[in-house]
Amino acid sequence: MKAYKGKSVFGGIAIGKIQVFGRGEKQVERAKTENTEAEIRRYRQATKEAVIQLKALYKKALREVGEDCAAIFEIHQMLLQDGSYRESIEHIIQTQQASAEYAVARTGDHFARMFASMEDDYMRVRAADVKDISRRLHSVLQGGEEDKYSLKEPVIIVAEDLAPSEIARFDRDMALAFVTVHGSPDSHTAILARNMGIPALVGAGLSLDDAMDGKQGIVDGTDGIFYVEPDGETMGRMRQAGQEELQKKAFLQTLKGKENSTLDGQNILLHANIGNMRDLADALQNDAGGIGLFRSEFIYLEREDFPTEEEQFRIYRAVAEAMGKKRVIIRTLDIGADKQCGYFRMEKEENPAMGCRGVRLCLTRQEIFMTQLRALFRASVFGEIAIMYPMITSVWEVRKIKEITEEVKAQLRARGTAYGEPEQGIMIETPAAAIISDQLAGEVDFFSIGTNDLTQYLLAVDRQNTALDAFRDPHHPAVLRMIETVVENAHRAGIWAGICGELGADPELIRDFLAMGVDELSVSPGRILPVRKIILETDVSGYKNEWGKSRTSG
Ligand code: PEP
Ligand code: MG
Repeated sequence: MKAYKGKSVFGGIAIGKIQVFGRGEKQVERAKTENTEAEIRRYRQATKEAVIQLKALYKKALREVGEDCAAIFEIHQMLLQDGSYRESIEHIIQTQQASAEYAVARTGDHFARMFASMEDDYMRVRAADVKDISRRLHSVLQGGEEDKYSLKEPVIIVAEDLAPSEIARFDRDMALAFVTVHGSPDSHTAILARNMGIPALVGAGLSLDDAMDGKQGIVDGTDGIFYVEPDGETMGRMRQAGQEELQKKAFLQTLKGKENSTLDGQNILLHANIGNMRDLADALQNDAGGIGLFRSEFIYLEREDFPTEEEQFRIYRAVAEAMGKKRVIIRTLDIGADKQCGYFRMEKEENPAMGCRGVRLCLTRQEIFMTQLRALFRASVFGEIAIMYPMITSVWEVRKIKEITEEVKAQLRARGTAYGEPEQGIMIETPAAAIISDQLAGEVDFFSIGTNDLTQYLLAVDRQNTALDAFRDPHHPAVLRMIETVVENAHRAGIWAGICGELGADPELIRDFLAMGVDELSVSPGRILPVRKIILETDVSGYKNEWGKSRTSG
């Protein structure tokens, strides 16, 4: 047995087979074939199988994320069967007596380069699709291996690291747990894993070894330990711990439908953070009082091309309708920093966390922003949508956004399209915004404090950099004082203030947040009921705040 310590992202115990997830591209060797006719037949058969896989993926995506997001799998089917792609592969097999694998790899590279050099944006993004279908064909030729994100059985996924766009593609019903060698608990990858509500560890001190693949493993998400080939004693202990977890979960279920009221009668709203429709189902399942943060950038990250206004409208409308009278705060896209999206073709930046992300990108590339705003204003007719803008630092940005939203409404009026008047708020996640929150409060309907970025920028500690763990202190008095100031400024101006960063679910701070008068906590769906339990057991009366003092020993 081997045991590795990692940082817990989400608690719970998972026991199952390990699947090592590698993302390295293999170089395809040139292999000669004598029988070119047989090789062409092999290639044609592989195409048929790949089309069957894509049809199944289309159906799955249709069920889980809707028609608009599923459409990519139809495009892939068309590309696979495209005449010039097929001719190129068969030509290479015939003239170079090459293997089908080699011909597919060469054609894939060649077509991807050709698409990438095109003027038209739509055609340029097809480069990634051609690479994708060529990889799929190659894996079918190599023995029917499927899309690397589609899991055939329940497994513990172990990887060097996972990008946010990768973790979002795994089959949720089959992923038992995640373990990554790199990554920090505040990264978006970790946030996504947390939203999935399954045990997850990052920064696990192991050297990734393919030999681990297929072996039995245990992820103890609560204590942050990953066991490989556990011995009998550990297995027994973990099974017991798993049983206890189940009992705790069963108790939490009994809290559904209860008010979020402290023992002394103070109430707070408890909402969910989501990134897609699947998270929405988890939010409803966990009795969320509303959606406090829909990270809309995941709509962009989970696809290969810009979502159209219509596609976005359908998603936002579906969320609003599913939540009925409950408020749904949709944050406009916060692309940039660790959330990179190839088809945005962003300039490489020395320091992307301080670069063109969030509202800066939206104000720089207004067409993308306006498309999203049109979809949001239209969808707000169908429910209680509120719009929230990320990465604000200045009053002028909010005023500029107002000008743009007025223009968007004028466009919709000119088209004769109905739209609503959603509440509009901002994220307070930069020190600048927190410090001038008294001025900003007069401009908007609400504040939501993004403690992940606020901590990163206040303490000058990169949220991705695990080497700085000793310096990352989300309980730092500077962070807590800042939250208190923002809440006070909001209330003074007659608006409400919530917290949607990960700190909102920190069991040690919930009493402080209640004492500060925070109006809403928005947390990952799996944390709603545990946070409710704490609220129900808390008495805030006479509580003397401690947040002016450092709680850490240093
Ligand atoms: C935050 O910064 O706290 C936040 C909620 O936004 P994100 O984690 O998506 O940057
Ligand atoms: Mg943020």
